[in-house]
Amino acid sequence: MKTRRDAVKREAVKRNTVKRPLSSRNGPVRLNPGRQTTLGGQVTLSGIGVHSGKPVNLTLGPADADTGYVFIRTGLDGRDREVRAEVNSVTATDFATVLGDRDGPLVSTAEHVLASLRGLGVDNALIEVDGTEVPILDGSAAPIVAAIDQAGVVALAAPRRFIEILKPVRVVIGDSSGELHPHAGGFRAEIEIVFDHPLIGRQQLAFDLEPAGFRRDIARARTFGNMNDVARLWSAGYALGASFENSVVFDDTRILNTEGLRYADEFVRHKALDAVGDLALAGLPILGLYRSVRGGHRLNHAVLSALMADASAWRVVEAEAPRRLRGHADVAAGQVAPAYGPDRSA
Ligand SMILES: [Zn+2]
Repeated sequence: MKTRRDAVKREAVKRNTVKRPLSSRNGPVRLNPGRQTTLGGQVTLSGIGVHSGKPVNLTLGPADADTGYVFIRTGLDGRDREVRAEVNSVTATDFATVLGDRDGPLVSTAEHVLASLRGLGVDNALIEVDGTEVPILDGSAAPIVAAIDQAGVVALAAPRRFIEILKPVRVVIGDSSGELHPHAGGFRAEIEIVFDHPLIGRQQLAFDLEPAGFRRDIARARTFGNMNDVARLWSAGYALGASFENSVVFDDTRILNTEGLRYADEFVRHKALDAVGDLALAGLPILGLYRSVRGGHRLNHAVLSALMADASAWRVVEAEAPRRLRGHADVAAGQVAPAYGPDRSA
């Protein structure tokens, strides 16, 4: 059922939509003539919820153009419930990003699957979950990336749409800050974390989001936590599924996982992964720069909410008329997954 808030949001999107070509203040920006994409088929992953510790299946499947990402909660006595992955659907950001509707939370820990879809340039997907949480798997996006590779990415007829940042939006929460800025070259993120811990300290990561880099530099970074915090969460009934199988765990001086780290700076890379997932709740790929210092789910959500609340800070732009596909073989091989952002080669 459509809520009034949905109607208001859709109206805002309509009002903000303009057609390319446009000229920005940085000169003419020509978007990649990209088509929207979806998955080539269905694929299922099974695991446990990091908070519930209970088994859950995650099924990713194709969706029509302009669907975006829609979560479907199954296993409720035949009464499937749907929630669109968008900023207004967030019901909590305490330990993970939780989506729901007026009737309450529907699915927790949405961020890694959303990051995987966005990171690999999948614009539309149905995300079926038969439990309260997306399975944590190995704590990173790598298994989901592998599943998406298995399903394949295919182009749809509709042109791709983006949210272009038109002016800076900034949010400060305590000693953390997050901001979105106009940026001519697609989506760029600059993430900084500062932990008073000898293994972490200050870590910074800057990247331009595109599938190969996401896969190589970000997807494999795992969730992490301090053993003391994990023990505290356990006693509060959270993180019941957390283990060395799905989290980097450290004490005051060392990493407790025997296999060590996947990247020397795995911590900031995981924060980057979370940010890509949380910002996927914009509903469309963002053309802009996201900068966060000491951020997390709450900050990411606050910045996106602040952006959406200011209709003069963004607009929806459409890619120019799509180029003809090179050939059917390209589709089968997933080679048509288009470049993520504007085409700067022209
Ligand atoms: Zn995470």
